[in-house]
Amino acid sequence: MCGIIGYIGDKKTIPILINGLQKLEYRGYDSAGVCISNNGDLKTIKKKGKLQKLVDTIATQDIDGPIGIAHTRWATHGEPNEKNAHPHLDCKGEIAIVHNGIIENYSSLKKLLEKHGHKIESDTDSEIIAHLVEKFYKDDLESAVREALQLVDGAFGLAVIHKNEKKIIAARRGSPLIIGIGKNEMFVASDVPAILEHTKKVIYLNDNEMATISQGGYEIKNLEGKRVAEKVEEIKWTIDQIEKKGFKHFMLKEIFEQPEAISNTLRGRIKEDRIKLSVNFDVKDISRVLITACGTSWHSGLIGKYILESIAQIPTEVDYASEFRYRKPLIKSDDLLVAISQSGETADTLAALREAKEQNAKTLGIVNVVGSTITREVESGIYLHVGPEIGVASTKAFTSQVVSLILLALHIRQEKGLKVDKKIIKELFRLPKKIAEALKSAEDIKKIADKFKDSKNFLYLGRGVNFPVALEGALKLKEISYIHAEGYPAAEIKHGPIALIDEDMPVVFVVTKNNLTQKTISNMQEVKAREGRIIAIVNKGDKEIKKITDYVIMVPETVDELSPIINSIPLQLLAYYIAEAKGMDVDKPRNLAKSVTVE
Ligand code: GLU
Repeated sequence: MCGIIGYIGDKKTIPILINGLQKLEYRGYDSAGVCISNNGDLKTIKKKGKLQKLVDTIATQDIDGPIGIAHTRWATHGEPNEKNAHPHLDCKGEIAIVHNGIIENYSSLKKLLEKHGHKIESDTDSEIIAHLVEKFYKDDLESAVREALQLVDGAFGLAVIHKNEKKIIAARRGSPLIIGIGKNEMFVASDVPAILEHTKKVIYLNDNEMATISQGGYEIKNLEGKRVAEKVEEIKWTIDQIEKKGFKHFMLKEIFEQPEAISNTLRGRIKEDRIKLSVNFDVKDISRVLITACGTSWHSGLIGKYILESIAQIPTEVDYASEFRYRKPLIKSDDLLVAISQSGETADTLAALREAKEQNAKTLGIVNVVGSTITREVESGIYLHVGPEIGVASTKAFTSQVVSLILLALHIRQEKGLKVDKKIIKELFRLPKKIAEALKSAEDIKKIADKFKDSKNFLYLGRGVNFPVALEGALKLKEISYIHAEGYPAAEIKHGPIALIDEDMPVVFVVTKNNLTQKTISNMQEVKAREGRIIAIVNKGDKEIKKITDYVIMVPETVDELSPIINSIPLQLLAYYIAEAKGMDVDKPRNLAKSVTVE
């Protein structure tokens, strides 16, 4: 995810671009850059780090012109540094591009371009586009971009300029892009806040559409070059509403982003039923997986244990990173250490990783933030590709971590020469739809939340791969509502926690269909016999459970290994709506921080 803004008009371009980037900084903030076109000359300034660094550098230079494009990056390919920051130029420095998305076939295109003498300067997938456009350019930027895009697989939101043409070409497939219509000026941007100060009239580009904008107007075509009818919309929201896309909190927005986030995690990683992970060591000889993580990531690790043992048939241990690093773990060189961290900076996880490296284990990171310390220190990695997560309580990163662990398990299984179950692959592709379906219960969950908001304690119970889901549900509630909550394996309650149950104790059961459902129903009966109030997460059409519970929340059915992803959705919503009903600062809960860089 990143932010794009482009401007063509008779006002000063630089302030418009900078202001736009500031509004888009929530989309990415590891580096930023601008390119200005003025009288046949392109001038580019890029800076690593927060946008302010770029602003300070621009302030020292005399640069402006009637056309410009700018970008705030959230790296997917290549470290966040100045070289990899956008805009990217072609070999001659005549064409500049900014890109949001992932070019899946960039390495084969890169080889091809290099064979034709192109010099690719950065480690990004995006730069390829500038060179492809150069390859096809014959005095007409629009056709060159169109031809270039025929060769590209993957997702893009794109703005392109040529030093000799008074226009900006924008194109979209999979990444958002809008065109803003002003008086004697036009805009292109990733999102409305970037241009809202200047115009409220916008066109949302659809997938596979291209726009050519000039000072006097615009033309929208499809990628084949045919004119398409556009719809000009009038924006009615305020800036603040829009940054959160109309959601009250970033956390709620991120919960609702999960269908798209999971599509992004999966993108390009399964082709013709084969898993395509770039793990650069042989996984066949690994004898054991050691997962190390903290907090929510530790919960995804616990789910990973079930999945790696059942799918990849490989013994797996999960440790709190803070314990692992100090308990003198016995590590062998055929162990694989998997470090899971949203930020890639979690101090304990990093220390655990270093410990494993010292003892010669193979290492792999499952991380969201590209270029973060963990990603630089592991041998191989799986990026989540879910975009910045701003709410302190993790939601979309968690479900994406679970998906990544499933991909890893399938990859190991495949490399071991074992047959991969086609049903799991099919269900992975169906996940975004099923998550969207689960999100439809939000209003019902809100009503349940209102009933339980004054509870002092909660119990969350589940079995098998859904036991860690119960732990994560309890953690979400604790984090943002400050209600005490505990998660347990459902069968464990009779060994202690059942003593807590009375008519004031809400008990959340995760009881979707699998081979343990009947056993969990027996545990529900035990709770009911002691007057506990049950909220059950069940599959659609499950009538039996409905009879014995006070509240049911329906979710779509899937294979057992993928059920944690769908079952977590109502638990995230329950925690959110309880916290919201209590008036809590959901995005910034007390005492917590997003990236825990201390031990
Ligand atoms: N894949 C591009 C890069 O890593 C664009 C990333 C984005 O969409 O933020 O530079």
